[in-house]
Amino acid sequence: MQSDRYETRLRASRAGRLGPLFPWLALWLVAGCGFAEGAGSGGSRSLVQARNEMVEHQLAARDIRDERVLEAMRKVRRHRYAPDLDPVRAYEDRPHSIGEGQTISQPYIVALMSELARVEPPCKVLEVGTGSGYQAAVLAEMGCTVYTIEIIEPLARRARKILESEGYGDRVRTRVGDGYRGWPEQAPFDAVVVTAAAPRVPRPLLEQLREGGRLVIPVGDYWQMLEVHRRTTSGFEREKITSVRFVPMTGEVRRRP
Ligand code: SAM
Repeated sequence: MQSDRYETRLRASRAGRLGPLFPWLALWLVAGCGFAEGAGSGGSRSLVQARNEMVEHQLAARDIRDERVLEAMRKVRRHRYAPDLDPVRAYEDRPHSIGEGQTISQPYIVALMSELARVEPPCKVLEVGTGSGYQAAVLAEMGCTVYTIEIIEPLARRARKILESEGYGDRVRTRVGDGYRGWPEQAPFDAVVVTAAAPRVPRPLLEQLREGGRLVIPVGDYWQMLEVHRRTTSGFEREKITSVRFVPMTGEVRRRP
């Protein structure tokens, strides 16, 4: 059972100051109907406006500063990646179920991971955990070529279809399988983004980073820490970012000691 708390960032500093606002912002985003892409008059707010509000109130008002991330998230049509959901709900400040017991990540978490990847175009990124395809689309919109792996076949197939129909077919390559071993034929990557929580950092993913490249990954089981591992000339440096709550990474990572 997925919980609404999945992937909610717990850092107290900024969230604490903005905390009391969030329920009202969420209500404000949900309130009102008549959402339509591009519509902007007659009392109905457009999905374009919903996206802009998501970026201003959920991302920029917290601590997302990378303009390329903010711009990409203004552009990518998030509601297309959660087709079973009422479009307006896709812009809420929370993750949503996408079927198969999996989730499309909360907008803030997508922004944070994209920012932590510190990629500059033309960049090459590996994502483990395609899910809805939304994170991959955001990274592609930021100017990267994205290689993304999903272990659940129906999700991978649906994400591929949506990414193609949204115009990302040439910038996002999808694969069905266990992402534990990465995509060695395409390595090295400027960044690797893992969107499911691993009990430990998979060594093959570290090894597929170029020098200076960054692995962004939630590590842990119930208690999880979002970590960044940067490849240096002599090894790896680790930075702990914040507490998070992700769905578990499955497959080979569970069978390793
Ligand atoms: N990035 C996604 C998005 O934007 O919608 C969110 C992904 S969801 C939080 C995590 C995904 O990781 C799930 O779809 C899950 O099936 C997938 N996953 C879990 N373990 C995996 C593995 N070993 N290899 C590839 N995908 C995996």
